[in-house]
Amino acid sequence: MEDIILAIDLGATNILYGVANVKGDILYKNVLATNSNLGANYVLSKLANIIERLLAEHNKKGQVKAVIVATPGPLSHLDKIVYNSPNLHWNRVAIKKELQARLNHPTLPIMIEKDTNMAVLGEYYFGQDRQYSNLIYITVSTGIGGGIIINDRLYRGANGGAGEIGHLVVKPNGERCGCGQYGCLEALASGRAIAKQAQERIIQVGFPHIGSKEVGELARQGNSLAIAILDEALDNLARGLANVVNLFNPNIMVLGGGVIEGLQDLWLDRLVEKVLGSVFKLNAQNLKIEMTKLGGDIGLYGCVAAYVFFKEGQRV
Ligand SMILES: [Zn+2]
Repeated sequence: MEDIILAIDLGATNILYGVANVKGDILYKNVLATNSNLGANYVLSKLANIIERLLAEHNKKGQVKAVIVATPGPLSHLDKIVYNSPNLHWNRVAIKKELQARLNHPTLPIMIEKDTNMAVLGEYYFGQDRQYSNLIYITVSTGIGGGIIINDRLYRGANGGAGEIGHLVVKPNGERCGCGQYGCLEALASGRAIAKQAQERIIQVGFPHIGSKEVGELARQGNSLAIAILDEALDNLARGLANVVNLFNPNIMVLGGGVIEGLQDLWLDRLVEKVLGSVFKLNAQNLKIEMTKLGGDIGLYGCVAAYVFFKEGQRV
């Protein structure tokens, strides 16, 4: 009987959850809509319900060895407290403690990690098969975030707050960001930023809702405003990623997230060219920049990777 884990990727609008073995086979998965505007208690109760339901179904012989949860940050590493989360709208929620209190399984280990850290673990372990000791994962979706592997270890920083690549300031006095600063990468190149630009600048559209996907479609049809919006966002994204490359000199930078997945055909080659053309030559040598092959399940793969490292006794 093989060991399995419950993997949960908590988002602001959806909870993606699944059952996986330690080889990274996702045996079952599902997604449940949530609403972070309804507060921490609502979301935590939903999470606890999911876990209890999965346990009732998959833990008849005690096969489930752990529950691993990826959560939006900021998350303090030692005490697992979510602080001022712009996505969850939680302020100081002890996620691990609160979740444990809602479950009827006091001895079942629960591991919590910031979602971007979980994603980079998944990419390092399953996406790239541990080939690269220095790997940066960047997600470009509604927001922009990153995870950092240095010397085969996850880099969390002193408190757990490292990797906030979306809040590199790439344009002083630029657009206001959800974090309160101005000109952050996230305020200029995320899905939310592109949608905001489109709503302000594209008047005649014919799309009931305009987001990065619709802007992409318009750009492919030759709409000059859509092209301009995406070009500006791309320039800012390239500037941000070039800073990261010069700071960390990674072997590989892997990109994922709904926005960049959807704009890949328009962006990827140019992004690579811009980044390679603007970093130090030494840092551009052999640097790989590519899309993740794990798609939207990267967080679930990350949960498995986190468990495997934990089990192998490796400090991640
Ligand atoms: Zn910011």
